[in-house]
Amino acid sequence: MEQQLEKTTPINDITKITTLKNKLQKIHQDIYRKRREINRLTENINKTEKLLYETCSHKWIRDRSDDGAYGSSWYVCAICSLDKD
Ligand SMILES: [Zn+2]
Repeated sequence: MEQQLEKTTPINDITKITTLKNKLQKIHQDIYRKRREINRLTENINKTEKLLYETCSHKWIRDRSDDGAYGSSWYVCAICSLDKD
């Protein structure tokens, strides 16, 4: 069965398959690099937010988007715009 499949696969298709496999591998590598970059940026956001949170003395106000019936109570700082945890 396997031999039969090999026989019916033309040589130019093998070349195409190799090209597509390589392309796929490059896309996977690209995703891996971008994920690492996103993780690095997310870490940077967290550090910056933490620093901002510690630097501001905060003036908590009720978030306006919280007016709906389904909104849970949440506050946002009028000075630094961070959410109250
Ligand atoms: Zn603040």
